[in-house]
Amino acid sequence: MSEHVLIVGGGYVGMYTALQLRRKMRRRLRDGQLKITLVDPQSYMTYQPFLPEAAAGNLEPRHVVVSLRRVLPGVTILNGRVTGIDHALREATVRVVERGEDEPEEIRTVSYDLLVFCPGSISRTLPIPGLAEHGIGFKTVAEAIFLRNHVLRQLDIAASTTDAETRRRALTFVFVGGGYAGVEALAELEDMARDACEYYPDLDAKEMRWVLVEASDRILPEVGVDMGKWTVDALRRRGIDVRLQTLLKSAENLDLVLSDGEEFGTGTLVWTAGVRPNPLVKETDLPLDDKDRVKATAELTVEGVDNAFTAGDIAAVPDLTKPGEFCAPNAQHAVRQAKVLGDNVVAALRGGQLKAYKHAYAGSVASLGLHKGVAQVYGIKLRGLPAWFMHRTYHLSRLPTLNRKARVTADWTLALFFKREVVSLGTLERPREEFKLATKKY
Ligand SMILES: Cc1cc2nc3c(=O)[nH]c(=O)nc-3n(C[C@H](O)[C@H](O)[C@H](O)COP(=O)(O)OP(=O)(O)OC[C@H]3O[C@@H](n4cnc5c(N)ncnc54)[C@H](O)[C@@H]3O)c2cc1C
Repeated sequence: MSEHVLIVGGGYVGMYTALQLRRKMRRRLRDGQLKITLVDPQSYMTYQPFLPEAAAGNLEPRHVVVSLRRVLPGVTILNGRVTGIDHALREATVRVVERGEDEPEEIRTVSYDLLVFCPGSISRTLPIPGLAEHGIGFKTVAEAIFLRNHVLRQLDIAASTTDAETRRRALTFVFVGGGYAGVEALAELEDMARDACEYYPDLDAKEMRWVLVEASDRILPEVGVDMGKWTVDALRRRGIDVRLQTLLKSAENLDLVLSDGEEFGTGTLVWTAGVRPNPLVKETDLPLDDKDRVKATAELTVEGVDNAFTAGDIAAVPDLTKPGEFCAPNAQHAVRQAKVLGDNVVAALRGGQLKAYKHAYAGSVASLGLHKGVAQVYGIKLRGLPAWFMHRTYHLSRLPTLNRKARVTADWTLALFFKREVVSLGTLERPREEFKLATKKY
């Protein structure tokens, strides 16, 4: 009899689990005794730690994603969004890949025997006036490409306008949230914009205003208190306006109001103030904790539920190295959990013993622009060039597939000899504009 494993989400956990299952259950897959289906709206896995470098133009965006079909032959990839799961019935509802607003939706019901639930997290937003209309997150490759084009476009606008207020707005860039996504994205984009100013004789890099707004009294908690403080100083030395213990109160018409009383207009508002579990959890019959994460056991099964596994940002996995606490939502845990999860699914299918997930957080590395970084790993603190070098070597070693490692290395090598591209291709988002203009009757 054939068994069907359904994997919801093809990110870190989903892709690595599928790889592990393929490796260990090759024969069953080939003989048709096992079927694996992976559902994700995208046909690729995104290596999120490289998004800031992709936004800064150090890496080709295509090189920071991995094709699921290419690395998972034998696994059925279904491009769609799971909209609900009835685990009691072993059924998932999938809205097959969105085709366009006017086109009818196609809803499919997928039956399965064993569930691996890993749809990750989404940006955690607040009901701040104007945020939904004008803000942008930094979690996807589309957002990273958009921001790169947008920042360069702002320089184009500032250099071309004769209106002082338009120029001031265009040259003001605001990031809310001082975790690694926000700090790395801001630092990399500022670095790129500073380089780009060289090609704008009418712009002085000092005219740009980059602001980081953070609600707590520190940034980059992942690298520890000391290195977080050092990062604040390093960013301030670069002229970046770091506002700690400050909240964004309003963003209507991109006229920002901060909790410290300051008000100013901006052309760019990036929201990176943390993540929350994917709201899909509420459309399932899986047990949730008070933060809407799926309750998980140390063996990465869903608590009190048969034939369901979970891990990554969506799951409240007990941290066995810190009793009473849960694993933080990061790639370091996600990749390691996926390996244990894969082994445990194999054990469950073969009637074997499940093992517990245990990993002590090793610290973190972050890039702050070309040749700049900060790191604290196993208690070793690094700043500047050594930290940046460590960031690159660590993430290169973690990047899935030899193909992607080679391409990323090639991008970095070329960047040693040639300056980065400073062209905004924002018109790619509006490809029909020119043609519409051409078809206009005069
Ligand atoms: C900019 C950035 C930088 C980061 N840098 C670091 C770092 O340096 N170090 C570190 O440890 N961590 C870092 N992280 C965090 C890390 O990337 C995440 O913790 C990790 O990706 C979590 O893995 P996951 O599998 O749980 O979720 P994800 O990798 O996010 O995967 C979730 C998948 O589910 C899919 N999905 C969503 N909804 C549905 C649905 N309804 N149906 C089907 N599929 C769905 C998504 O498309 C996605 O492919 C960074 C994150 C960001 C955004």
